[in-house]
Amino acid sequence: MTNNTELSPKKKLGFIGARGMVGRVLLERMREEDDFRFFETFFFSTSQVGQAAPPESHDQKLRDAHSLDELSEMDVIVTCQGGDYTLALHPSLRAHGWKGVWVDAASALRMNKDSCLVLDPLNKDLIKESLEKGVVDYVGSNCTVSLMLLALAGPLKAGVIEWVNSHTYQAASGGGAAHMRELLKGMGFLYERHKDLIDDERGDILKLDQLISKDLRENNDFPSEKFGAPLAANLLPWIDSAVNDGQTREEWKAMVEANKILGLNNTLGVDGTCVRVGALRSHSQALTIKLKKPMGAEEFSALLKDSHEWLEFVENNKEETLRELTPAAASGTLRIKVGRVRALKMAPDFMNVFTVGDQLLWGAAEPLRRFLRQYVNH
Ligand code: NAP
Repeated sequence: MTNNTELSPKKKLGFIGARGMVGRVLLERMREEDDFRFFETFFFSTSQVGQAAPPESHDQKLRDAHSLDELSEMDVIVTCQGGDYTLALHPSLRAHGWKGVWVDAASALRMNKDSCLVLDPLNKDLIKESLEKGVVDYVGSNCTVSLMLLALAGPLKAGVIEWVNSHTYQAASGGGAAHMRELLKGMGFLYERHKDLIDDERGDILKLDQLISKDLRENNDFPSEKFGAPLAANLLPWIDSAVNDGQTREEWKAMVEANKILGLNNTLGVDGTCVRVGALRSHSQALTIKLKKPMGAEEFSALLKDSHEWLEFVENNKEETLRELTPAAASGTLRIKVGRVRALKMAPDFMNVFTVGDQLLWGAAEPLRRFLRQYVNH
């Protein structure tokens, strides 16, 4: 292993999708950690070619994200542009003879047998082995999967978990910027239409409920194009498309990606229901954990705490839970919050856990940023 950060010429980094949500968070994190000093960076866009590039750029202008020749000059490409872009460009670029390292936030390449999923607090050694073996495609995993594994890192390392039943409470931002706006517009839509009754403390609450329910069910003007149904004052227990056996794609990802990250052969069972809720940013999950042997909540909590520096353990009481274990408390931070830990009543080998984390940071941008560091240092 060599530390080439000081000795070798800087690697050329192509950054695609810096104005999207994940891209902006990645850009900010790389600035905060001074990561651009390791690279000669070029920014690419699919729609704003020739416009001003961020100040870290080697060029002043955005390059063309569809130009195979320009992309081929890069040693490493990080893309936050989305799956359609990856599916369109990645095969053509490889066919064009490009042998550089491709780093991706989208799901398109995750289950390719030659790709490596990156979540270094859990699989740093697997990433290292992959770099040494010459693997060239590295992908961030699904946001809920990364956040769940980071929450359970201690017990997973101790090998005490048999399976996990996960029920998610996923924020609007998981869909992208337009989805966040649609949630907020939905809230405003309801308030504007019914503000007299909402503001009247002595008004008829059942009448208000009837009017709002009617809007949610029947009003074609309710902003719902992005989610396919009203999200404000509602929840949607379906995310993404259908796969087999009644699962949604989001639910299917949990087990296959978790096992791939951990280098397991589907020996860790993970399944549950993925639900979109009216949180703005940060995903939450309620986990029912089947342990390999009975264990008290205190012993299990000790394993949770003994994991990594980003884990924040929240004591199982009302005050701390309401203050700390919420999407509002987690958003914009790298904290992986874990709480509501207690043994379930029905059997001594079942544990209850609630976790929340920012899905744009640890759920998307941060594993990619940390991979880039590992890549320059390997
Ligand atoms: P996004 O905000 O929609 O951005 C994607 C691209 O859309 C941008 O790079 C930009 O490309 C283009 N775009 C068009 N109009 C835009 C506008 N008004 N503002 C900003 N960008 C605009 O998508 P994202 O949420 O960052 O997701 C990117 C990828 O990461 C997807 O594959 C997603 O599945 C994955 N991911 C997302 C999350 C999440 O929580 N959102 C989590 C994990 C993984 P040009 O500049 O080239 O036009």
